[in-house]
Amino acid sequence: FDGVTKTFCSLRPTAAMPSPSVPLSAAYYAESLLHSPLPSHPAILDATTGAAVSFPDLLSQIRSLAASLRAHLGLSNGHVAFILSPNRLEIPVLYLALFSIGAVAAPANPASTPSEIASLVRLSKPTVAFAVSSTAAALPRHLPTLLLDSLEFHSFLTSNAASAAVPAAEVRQPDVAAILFSSGTTGRVKAAALTHRSFIAMMAGFYAARREGRPEVKLLTAPMFHTMGFVVALKGVVLGATMVLMGGGRAGVAEMLRAAEQHRVTEITAAPPVVVAMGRPEVAAGLDLSALERVVCGGAPLHPAAAERFMARFPRVELSQGYGSTEAGGISILVGPDECCHVRSAGRLSSNVEAKIVDTVTGEALSVAQEGELWVRGPAIMKGYVGDDEANASIFSSDGWLKTGDLCYFDHDGFLYIVDRLKELIKYKAYQVPPAELELLLQSLPEIVEAAVVPYPHEEAGQIPMAFVVRQPGSNLSEAEIIDFVAKKVAPYKKIRKVAFVDSIPKSAAGKILRRELRKLALSTSKCK
Ligand code: AMP
Repeated sequence: FDGVTKTFCSLRPTAAMPSPSVPLSAAYYAESLLHSPLPSHPAILDATTGAAVSFPDLLSQIRSLAASLRAHLGLSNGHVAFILSPNRLEIPVLYLALFSIGAVAAPANPASTPSEIASLVRLSKPTVAFAVSSTAAALPRHLPTLLLDSLEFHSFLTSNAASAAVPAAEVRQPDVAAILFSSGTTGRVKAAALTHRSFIAMMAGFYAARREGRPEVKLLTAPMFHTMGFVVALKGVVLGATMVLMGGGRAGVAEMLRAAEQHRVTEITAAPPVVVAMGRPEVAAGLDLSALERVVCGGAPLHPAAAERFMARFPRVELSQGYGSTEAGGISILVGPDECCHVRSAGRLSSNVEAKIVDTVTGEALSVAQEGELWVRGPAIMKGYVGDDEANASIFSSDGWLKTGDLCYFDHDGFLYIVDRLKELIKYKAYQVPPAELELLLQSLPEIVEAAVVPYPHEEAGQIPMAFVVRQPGSNLSEAEIIDFVAKKVAPYKKIRKVAFVDSIPKSAAGKILRRELRKLALSTSKCK
């Protein structure tokens, strides 16, 4: 890195990342399947159902589905497809088919309530939805919906007949490939638009860092609607690995590890709660995990004590940590046995990422070992939030840096350390919980004068949402009533799990909630149950 400009840079363009003006082949991702080291190796295996698809079949399914989506649903460049499904084998096929015709994949958490889904649909403006029998009822009625578990969808995967009739669409790198929902640094959920260039840049990085040898078997436990699961699903395909899927957030750790044993998994990608659980002696007892070489943990901070417990239990398994966000893609990664001793770090910058640390008050670039907000730049970062100029103006600097909202520093060896989160976001088991959404709900209760929601540390979940509430004079509204009220209105992972009653909410002169002060106050309240 360059200590003069105080910019940390690891920009390594590769042949796989052509300039943005070069037209992207319509089958860019699908074509990489042809380079799979072992074409007969399963590409995707659903550990829940036991169903598997080989690489050649995956390629033909993607082509067939792409042609069917164009011919039967009229989908083409720029059309948005809303997706509401747990992890299943059809999802990567659908993503890649949509990519290849220039349509946009907009996957959402299937645990969302109908009103949450309605607002995501308003944000992303889909022309069609893909769901499964158990999630379809939560979608707005006006949205044409195709079920992934229907005979019709399965006929789309195999009906090659449609392909010849419809000319292929041209897809270009700056075109939007996916809309991922995120609250970013402030406020309520927004629609982050990621381009083909974003994903190609990330894939180019993975490809450059790949290890030669026998094909890997990767277990994906993260849900594919979240950036981590989405990107890892593409990574498995591009690197020619077998990807073993689980229910995505639904499967328990014991079930995941049984699948890891059964399928001789070499790498597990997971959020911190899985690594925390694996550190416990009773978890995985009696299982043969001798094939496991690496666990990649990301999506939220991993407590160093949890990392150490994991390493003591699995001394032969490399614990790799990844840091990134929906808006920025992968930012940094801690890999290789040599880096394991930096367990408190989020690793070194990934390929194609430029970063700098900026003083949160003056906006000046800082030097090594100084704490400030991390700003990143590079081809992987999002194009912007759809239809939200105000949010775009606040997250991007005028010269294209994306402000991560994370308080960080770099050490002299280029290792990145995440010190705190400046942004409002709460992460419960790596799921995003936007406080503004919960605050709005609480304020709808007549007995509440005002409320603020902040993260409270929790060993297994990482953080839980805690509400500070000012009640109307004379109100006896209880903690249980508040928790219950919110629980009925939001997806389970967004539930408020702790409440403190206060006389006032601390605010700045400009009326902004002083969240850091509340977080300190939260720590001084009784220990979390
Ligand atoms: P998301 O957009 O849901 O991926 O959330 C991104 C945010 O999660 C980041 O800006 C960080 O605040 C947090 N995060 C993600 N990965 C890590 C990590 N490895 N260590 C610490 N925080 C992380």
